[in-house]
Amino acid sequence: MCHGCFYGGYSCGILAHVKDGRLVRVEGNPDHPLNRGRLCAKGLAAVKWVHNPHRLKYPLVRVGEKGEGKFRRVNWDVALDTIAERLSGIKNELGPEYILFIKGQASGWFNLYHQLFVRFIHALGSPNFSWWGPSVCFIPQLFYQACTIGGDRYATADYENADFIIEWFTGGGTGGPARGGAESANVNLRTVPIQILDRLEQGAKLVLINPQLIPLGANGRAHRWLPVRPGTDAALALSMINVIINEDLYDTGFVSEWCFGFDQLKGHVQQYTPEWAERITDIPRQEIKWLARKYATTKRACIRFTEAPQKKDLGSFAKAIAILIAITGHLDRPGGNVFFHQTADLHIDTFENKISEEMANRAIGAERVFSRMMGGPAMVGADFFSVINALNTGRPYKPRAALIFCSNPISTARNPAGIAQALKNLEFSVVVDVVPTPTSRYADIILPAATKYEHEGDVALRLNHLATCNKVIEPVGEARSELQVLLDLAVRLGMGEDFWQGDYHAMLNEYLAPAGVSIEEIKKDSLKGKYLAETEFMTRRERYSDLFANLPDKKVQLYNLIFEQNGIDPLPTYVGEPDDPINAADLNGKYPLIFTDEHSDYPNHHSWMRSVTWLREIRKDPYVKINPITAEKYGVSHGDWIELESPHGRMKAVAWLFEGLRPDTIMGHHGWWEGCNELDLPEYPALDGGVNPNTLYHWEQRDPITGDITKNTLVRIRKSAPPETAGPIQEVI
Ligand code: SF4
Repeated sequence: MCHGCFYGGYSCGILAHVKDGRLVRVEGNPDHPLNRGRLCAKGLAAVKWVHNPHRLKYPLVRVGEKGEGKFRRVNWDVALDTIAERLSGIKNELGPEYILFIKGQASGWFNLYHQLFVRFIHALGSPNFSWWGPSVCFIPQLFYQACTIGGDRYATADYENADFIIEWFTGGGTGGPARGGAESANVNLRTVPIQILDRLEQGAKLVLINPQLIPLGANGRAHRWLPVRPGTDAALALSMINVIINEDLYDTGFVSEWCFGFDQLKGHVQQYTPEWAERITDIPRQEIKWLARKYATTKRACIRFTEAPQKKDLGSFAKAIAILIAITGHLDRPGGNVFFHQTADLHIDTFENKISEEMANRAIGAERVFSRMMGGPAMVGADFFSVINALNTGRPYKPRAALIFCSNPISTARNPAGIAQALKNLEFSVVVDVVPTPTSRYADIILPAATKYEHEGDVALRLNHLATCNKVIEPVGEARSELQVLLDLAVRLGMGEDFWQGDYHAMLNEYLAPAGVSIEEIKKDSLKGKYLAETEFMTRRERYSDLFANLPDKKVQLYNLIFEQNGIDPLPTYVGEPDDPINAADLNGKYPLIFTDEHSDYPNHHSWMRSVTWLREIRKDPYVKINPITAEKYGVSHGDWIELESPHGRMKAVAWLFEGLRPDTIMGHHGWWEGCNELDLPEYPALDGGVNPNTLYHWEQRDPITGDITKNTLVRIRKSAPPETAGPIQEVI
């Protein structure tokens, strides 16, 4: 399987061609049901990714100051012994909770990697497993959705049966899972466009709600593009509910049988007229009415809403979307938003039972309603930004050590300067990654991670298809699978009994046990993988009594009793983003443009792969998109460096003139920092004044319940010189 979107999860099938021990070419595996032989640019660039001169090849220990980037090579035994000794020392001296485990999106969500990471930190006795995802990505949305319409995963767009498709602030498949917040077993960079394009050919209509025209909707493919003002999407959704209810377009049968609180909702949304929403969203009232009517009256209509466009005010957006899907009768019906289920639940024990209630309450951020309602720290982990605060303020206490696995929060999370300071404040930290990153500059030890081509056994399930990876080349340098790194470390820490004594295959087989197969069986025909028997659970629709079983009265919560009982607004009430031309009208004169950003693109996913030549040739410079009308006003030409300044920070980027963007909006792209030696492109700083859009946001503008951080601010721009460059990490002999 491909390594380009992420690893550890189900990805496109790849055929790898090897000569003299080197990967020389890849092609899509025609027998793989997800991509059916196709690959995107990231997948096709695997050769350059694996044999990339930027790769970390050996364990390194820091010899310079933190952040300076000077390291010395050591062997694995020295590195692992040192880590084990330091972790044991901190655990014995202060307690296990002083050790953090931080993971990134690279390793995927809830798969074997995720589960092994959680198991490891719990086995040590610490509740502080932290990841940035619950502060920005899809989990906060999932929380609001699950509390409104039930289920244990996203209600995903059933493109294959839909006649009307709304892509709401999605990349339309441009980013793979990175823009697949509503990701489920059925979608991926290849499958989203394929499924939608197939359906459009059969007469379905596509509507985009997005400040920019995404490629999927270009060339007349989208029936309508509604270029909503960034951060006001909830106003649009609420006014759609207003139209649907007031024009009696809702599914009366579903609402009366399965919904609670219709009358309260009806009264509440009277304020959200299309006329009101037009002022907020900049979408004409006629368009809003058309959209509401079309969505409600098309029998098979779905909404794909990925990473939320509105974050500080996430509650109103996420609740409104879930309500829209429910009252129109599009929930878990063919062509609507449905719950896809795997045929087996692959898992290993993540050792929640090793964390006492007292220790669980020591998880940083455990006091939050969100943490409590989502099942405690074992589910959502320690709140990432509370962890950063704790490291910088010592409140409630200051963790001393961190293991950071394939995560680069300095580039991808808000408040990069605060994160850098927090990393400096750690007594001891380890970063495991494929290439050096701005985050790894602060590590005491860096360990080189192997790609999927260099180790075997990544297994993943999609619906009923089990796929695995073969090791096709020896690891580059001394790179090692992250899974094996943790197993080796666990053994050194005296936890071998809980970690299969370091036996990788034994771990894989325990993970696979719920499917009733072994890794050896899957490997017998690894190009095809293994199809498990389909279960009715996989395919049955309208399982309402199951889906709503945990909701009060076993009904969809249009007026939400769960929220009410927990001090949360039971109805979707529009607030908007703080840095918004309406909410922050006093800033308009100084900062006349709206800034938001996207996280992935055809050649890049978050902060990955910008050192890969073939991909970097497609996107050479850190960029922001700007409408040509706006560019002309500021004397900016395509390719000019510009400086962007918000009330909270500064960054620089190259202007990409793009007609398909609202003229009042600048669209950034996060994750830039990396140089590309082969193209003679330098590394840039990821802190204030560098090329990182995260510096522009106010990191405390967060949803009060989930902590989801805004992706809206206001900026001014001017032409500028390029930023300073940053020296690469050096290996000191
Ligand atoms: S969408 Fe592209 S990067 Fe993602 S798994 Fe498929 S080929 Fe790889």
